[in-house]
Amino acid sequence: MAKILCVLYPDPVNGYPPKYARDDIPTLEHYPDGTTLPSPAAIDFTPGELLGCVSGALGLRQYLATAGHALVVTSDKEGANSTFEKELVDADVVISQPFWPAYLTEERIAKAPNLKLAVTAGIGSDHVDLNAAIARGITVAEVTWCNSVSVSEHAVMQILALVRNFVPSHEWAVKGGWNIADCVERSYDLEGMNVGVLAAGRIGLAVLRRLAPFDVHLHYSDKRRLPAETEQELGLTFHPDARSLATSVDVLSIHSPLVPETYQLFNDELLGQMKRGSYIVNTARGAIMDRDAVVRALESGQLAGYAGDVWYPQPPPADHPWREMPYNAMTPHTSGTSLSAQARYAAGTREILEAYFGGTPIREEYLIVHGGHLAGTGAVSYSLGGTASPGSSGQ
Ligand code: NDP
Repeated sequence: MAKILCVLYPDPVNGYPPKYARDDIPTLEHYPDGTTLPSPAAIDFTPGELLGCVSGALGLRQYLATAGHALVVTSDKEGANSTFEKELVDADVVISQPFWPAYLTEERIAKAPNLKLAVTAGIGSDHVDLNAAIARGITVAEVTWCNSVSVSEHAVMQILALVRNFVPSHEWAVKGGWNIADCVERSYDLEGMNVGVLAAGRIGLAVLRRLAPFDVHLHYSDKRRLPAETEQELGLTFHPDARSLATSVDVLSIHSPLVPETYQLFNDELLGQMKRGSYIVNTARGAIMDRDAVVRALESGQLAGYAGDVWYPQPPPADHPWREMPYNAMTPHTSGTSLSAQARYAAGTREILEAYFGGTPIREEYLIVHGGHLAGTGAVSYSLGGTASPGSSGQ
């Protein structure tokens, strides 16, 4: 029998289950590159249900109980007296989501001698100290592709929300106004603008593909260049580094992982070199930004708008300056946890657990750390640097 400790976001304030807006979600055949969707032996939920909160339990309760395992589900994750920290001491498996990350620091890993598997129900395992996981031989796995398109849709939505000045205009309508001039004094067309994507991986490329029909000039930067035919098809201008990209565009959408090279990359200096009135959308990780430099750039008018769904730490305190900074269209970390995405990552988490308990290999593309080194997707997309991953300390 194993003990699985699952850290999920709290239930809706109006109770669980919610009243669903729709009765079904589309069935996808495969991911955009042809990769197959998660394929566990079975699932015990209806796709479209709210699975990412405590009562949803990723649809794992019945499966784990039948297999004789102990499942602890909690949202209480911060501090030495949290349920997470107390239950961690004899847990074999930890499951967490980037939206409500259970930071698995080196200290916490040291307190969990039985821990063998850390699953990210989503994408982005920077809340796990990967160096410490490697040192301890812990496997880290995530559900690659599960919410990449979900995030790309959110990024495109937020680009349009900023450029068109959607949020303030909506607020005028709600509060009974018809203040056209107030709504449009900061409203532009996206058409014709230079739009850049930092990191054209699964999400970044999906953003580029979705933006192409808007008749914009598309730019990108990445460690590796996209195939020439993709650049040609989408009319892409390649930039060798983030600085070249950021200083060439009107709108920047960030899709690189949080690694030592991207930690606080956007500071006063880089933001100050961008074109006055630039917009930034960041659905990658909050700590890629210098928090207070973003606020200063919005207040000075250097940035015309900032949006995204990633913060640090998560959840952010009530007085986090990004909640009230001017010209922001922030959301909580929701882009990758639509009900559609949840069905995929709940099934992917189950597939990982079935492989782990069944003694069969976890899909290569789901692996981040395995056998004492970066593996699978981790070996391609992650880097370790000399220190612990920044996200693992709650940043
Ligand atoms: P991918 O691995 O498909 O793409 C990441 C891309 O970033 C790769 O092309 C990689 O290049 C490139 N890259 C790596 N390091 C750097 C760097 N230092 N500078 C520039 N480019 C770099 O990941 P996804 O597109 O699926 O996800 C990207 C990130 O988005 C995740 O790491 C996660 O942090 C975030 N995310 C956010 C979600 C949300 O809900 N908001 C949900 C899912 C993910 P190469 O392959 O050559 O190494």
